[in-house]
Amino acid sequence: MTTAKIIDGKAVAAQIRDEIAQQIAALRRDRPVPPGLAVILVGDDPASQVYVRSKERQAQEAGFKSVAYRRPADISEEQLITLIEGLNEDPGIDGILVQLPLPPHIDEAVVINAISPDKDVDGFHPINVGRLMTGEPSLLPCTPLGCLTLLKRTLGDLSGLDAVVVGRSNIVGKPMAALLLRENCTVTVAHSRTRDLPAVCRRADILVAAVGKPGFVQADWIKPGATVIDVGINRVPGADGKSRLVGDVDFGPASAVAGAITPVPGGVGPMTIAMLLRNTLSAYCRNNRLACPLA
Ligand code: NDP
Repeated sequence: MTTAKIIDGKAVAAQIRDEIAQQIAALRRDRPVPPGLAVILVGDDPASQVYVRSKERQAQEAGFKSVAYRRPADISEEQLITLIEGLNEDPGIDGILVQLPLPPHIDEAVVINAISPDKDVDGFHPINVGRLMTGEPSLLPCTPLGCLTLLKRTLGDLSGLDAVVVGRSNIVGKPMAALLLRENCTVTVAHSRTRDLPAVCRRADILVAAVGKPGFVQADWIKPGATVIDVGINRVPGADGKSRLVGDVDFGPASAVAGAITPVPGGVGPMTIAMLLRNTLSAYCRNNRLACPLA
């Protein structure tokens, strides 16, 4: 029995993409060059290929110039950095994204550090991480920003709410916690060493699950009426023999307890690319000294 409001990330993402497309069309009345997004894909990981195609297509549909740089898995770290340095200098490129994960012989931190912070549309560069922590304007990581956008559209002002983030990765958990703190939530970050995780989760008005374990968060860990954001994307065998995607929350039972919940698929996932486009438009505006229509 579902009682929770289902937060439709697909619909919100489509609306945001439309808004961005309109803003690009308006900006282009005075400017011949569209905002440019460069996506670098190393190797042939099937999931990464799907993500990159999706990013390319959605960027082009919204009016961006989108260029994918596909490189073989045995590219050297030096060659990859040379590619990034060229894009850093390219005035037609406003955003650079390196699809992760990279092959083991390449140091992800070195590669992320090579991207100009002003073009770092994934928001992973240490300068942007630092700006997020100190409250300076910066490019923000796309998945947590997408979660925050859904939360604000669902709850309005988040001030004073108890938020629990399960997971402390650099790409989801930690920046999610920082964004919620910036919204004046009282934030707890839980992880694999947390004692009595169910009790910690039960305190949450906002519960964000970013663990990477299918159906991990149980219904009886959720405070009745809480808003649950499920970041997890896990592929599990389906009843028909095909695989299907599930989140980190045991969705059916959880949606009988929560006040609002994101589904998987169709919740956080579509928001990530919408936020990438948002970041690229905002980098374009900043790089061209234009007032950003998204600010
Ligand atoms: P990571 O594997 O980097 O981090 C997982 C986190 O979960 C770690 O901090 C880990 O704790 C914590 N954890 C693991 N087991 C437990 C446990 N038993 N109890 C409490 N905490 C635990 O994953 P990511 O953050 O990169 O991704 C999380 C999920 O989100 C994945 O399913 C991923 O596919 C998905 N994802 C979805 C995106 C989207 O666009 N929707 C984008 C990015 C990720 P510890 O640090 O102690 O090891």
